[in-house]
Amino acid sequence: MFCAYRYSYFKPKQLRDFGTFQDGGLKYNNPVRPGLREVQRIWEDRECDIVLSIGTGYEQKLTSPVASNVRNLFQDGTLARFYRAALQSLSLNGQLSWEDHWSGLPDDAKKQQFRLNLPLVGKEPSIDDVGSMQYLQDQIQYHLEDIEGIARAFKAVSFFFELNGLPLFEGGRYCCRGSVLSRSPNSLDLIRSLGLNYPYAQFFNQDVPLGFLRASDICTLCGCFQKEVTFYVRHPTDRVNLQLVFNRLYRRSISAFPQSLDWFVDRQKLDAYFGQPDHKSRTGHSREHRCPCEVRRRQDVSTSEATNKKRSLPLQMRVRKKRRY
Ligand SMILES: [Zn+2]
Repeated sequence: MFCAYRYSYFKPKQLRDFGTFQDGGLKYNNPVRPGLREVQRIWEDRECDIVLSIGTGYEQKLTSPVASNVRNLFQDGTLARFYRAALQSLSLNGQLSWEDHWSGLPDDAKKQQFRLNLPLVGKEPSIDDVGSMQYLQDQIQYHLEDIEGIARAFKAVSFFFELNGLPLFEGGRYCCRGSVLSRSPNSLDLIRSLGLNYPYAQFFNQDVPLGFLRASDICTLCGCFQKEVTFYVRHPTDRVNLQLVFNRLYRRSISAFPQSLDWFVDRQKLDAYFGQPDHKSRTGHSREHRCPCEVRRRQDVSTSEATNKKRSLPLQMRVRKKRRY
């Protein structure tokens, strides 16, 4: 919806100690770009798992404009041309702004960014045209695009991965033990709804199965989903791709993947010599009421760190011996 209408509806708001704010639609009617910049500023090297842009309808022009042979002062005058240009600018036209953003995306990013909007035949109804509401509602069901695909994307990225400890070098490759967790506020509901539509959903690393999605992976004490997974990589710098495979047709990467294991080691500070600096729970539970399932994972971390130190001990001793001699 053009903000020219909206601007007259939403009056500027003055907030004490901050100043006066007005509708951002005049500059960014589609806020996807400032939103992505904000994400990068807050989470630094993180990128969005999913971007969903929702429009309120746009006038679909099926034919190219035809130039008139006769000059019309009202139609071709400076003010009229300025007005038309303003409405078609990237600042004011949310759909054009999205198309411009979309055309600049790499192919991989296009799989993670979605836009829902309603193409309209003829002019857009005014924002206060209540008589058009039923028509708009009826039209939406024909233009929902791949709404099931968007739902699958959101469900897949509600799962994320944490290493239980540093990858261990075993038999010429690195063994990675970790947990797939869920950030869903209601993991049981999520697993049940996935189970209804995709009863054989399971996690994969490339083509290696890591286990089915089961309600039994939900902790009975805290209600958090936690699935222990083990897989191997040639080197921690290799990019791996943990995915939720819904069925033969659909699969999507879980949050932050594809990614290298080194990235997780760095983010979790697993290689910090004096331990993790924040000493915080890694699942967001309160420190006072830490659930046994998290304590168990943290014990795994301690065990693997101890194993790593034991394995690296002979190397350190050799170095010391050399120095003495
Ligand atoms: Zn628990």
